Amino acid sequence: MARDRGPKCKQCRREGLKLFLKGERCLTEKCAIERRSYPPGEHGRGRIKQSEYLLQLREKQKARRYYGLLETQFRNTYEKASRQGGVTGENLLRLLETRLDNVVYRLGFAASRAQARQLVRHGHFSVNGRRVNIPSFGVKPEDVVTLKGSSAAEQVIRDATDLTASVAPWLQADHEGLTGKVLKWPERAEIDTPVQEQLIVELYSK
Ligand code: SF4
Repeated sequence: MARDRGPKCKQCRREGLKLFLKGERCLTEKCAIERRSYPPGEHGRGRIKQSEYLLQLREKQKARRYYGLLETQFRNTYEKASRQGGVTGENLLRLLETRLDNVVYRLGFAASRAQARQLVRHGHFSVNGRRVNIPSFGVKPEDVVTLKGSSAAEQVIRDATDLTASVAPWLQADHEGLTGKVLKWPERAEIDTPVQEQLIVELYSK
């Protein structure tokens, strides 16, 4: 499956905030945002002319990079969100949050979304007892995510749980048994993604 292979720290520097794309390194003083908090490139420290379009574009790029999606995957998710009832921006965030790779990360079973995606792709997790190796698989309330029995990745996953400060309130994690449960659909207030989703809706609505 296609994924963004570009330098991760540059993505954070471009968006001007930590997107936590590199796992443990993001929690140390080696984080590039801590050392060079200006955009990358020759003109990174120059003045950038702000415009409404630029604000909307940056917000979309930030969300897309935060969840580790390519443009087509992100756009398709937006299209799906816009077909649902309710507020499109909130639907979009809910769809992104309930992707299996994000849920594995939010449960604390991976140090980054990229690692969660790889663990899912390699078939280390089951949902309700059935192996699922599709990172975009959408979970729903009452779903139970478990590590496949005698998984070779168990130590990697246990190491990741040690880095986890807190688990999202709409999820329940058992770091000893390496299982997790989706308690309910996430509300907007329970999603700490640092984006203004309305700007993304405005961009795609043009
Ligand atoms: Fe972003 Fe992590 Fe790199 Fe820091 S270390 S710039 S948070 S990817």
